[in-house]
Amino acid sequence: MAARIIDGTALAGRLREATRQEVQALRARGVAPGLAVVIVGDDPASRVYVRNKIKSCEAAGIASTLIELPATTDEATLLARVAALNADRAVHGILVQLPLPAHVDAGRIIEAIAPAKDVDGFHVASSGALMTGLPGFVPCTPAGVMAMLDDAQVPLSGSRAVIIGRSNIVGKPLAMLLLQSDATVTICHSRTRDLAAITREADILVAAIGRANFVTADMVKPGACVIDVGINRLPDGKLAGDVDFNAVAQVAGWITPVPGGVGPMTIAMLLANTLKAARKP
Ligand code: NDP
Repeated sequence: MAARIIDGTALAGRLREATRQEVQALRARGVAPGLAVVIVGDDPASRVYVRNKIKSCEAAGIASTLIELPATTDEATLLARVAALNADRAVHGILVQLPLPAHVDAGRIIEAIAPAKDVDGFHVASSGALMTGLPGFVPCTPAGVMAMLDDAQVPLSGSRAVIIGRSNIVGKPLAMLLLQSDATVTICHSRTRDLAAITREADILVAAIGRANFVTADMVKPGACVIDVGINRLPDGKLAGDVDFNAVAQVAGWITPVPGGVGPMTIAMLLANTLKAARKP
């Protein structure tokens, strides 16, 4: 039986439209939500991501400001720009596009963002809130994954969830969210022994690795929900996820494609987080 495909483009479109309408309502009350996006250097992939974020903001009626700085920008200058954005009342959300050049301590820059404007959800205050179940900004990609699971009505309570990848922006926050939904969660990484034996137990399997076609059909339990977070550029220029889509789709119960899966959801959640920031008193 072929898996049901969870269409991230369609769901993201619906969520973006809902956000657009709420932005209109907020604007009518005199508040124009604003997002500032800071990019340092000219990494081509980062430029594409930033361009998409800005375009999506415009479509949702969110005022976006793009701050482009040269790769030679030093940490003090970047900290000063973040401080200015923190103080700017027209800016409700601040996003510093990662990765930053090696001479800048990305952690220090993220910690300099005011937690009330941390729409990426990477600040330690946001991570702490997520960990302890307090309200706060949830990182966009894990939030997008949860929205997909919810929309597809994948049962979470009591399920076995396995995440491959332990990054601060995907694996760890997603584990917290799945735990909050009463899944039993295992996080795997490059030192995990007998990975396939663990993934074969998963009702929900999330791949956030960064290696094309890493998850093969023999690693998947029949009927499982497979969420592919990976974005990998193949030598021929095409995009591929971390999951061997064609083969895994024959085994899984649900699967997300790449492109058109988690990627569009990440941007939809960024817009939702910016709206949430603008709503705060
Ligand atoms: P990181 O590189 O920070 O983390 C990758 C994780 O994969 C690490 O925990 C690493 O383990 C683990 N890993 C690497 N090799 C193996 C292996 N052989 N077996 C098991 N685990 C392994 O990546 P990110 O979390 O930032 O991103 C992951 C992927 O998701 C990338 O392709 C990225 O482009 C994509 N992405 C997509 C987004 C979207 O919007 N769809 C948003 C963010 C990311 P260890 O910790 O031991 O090194």
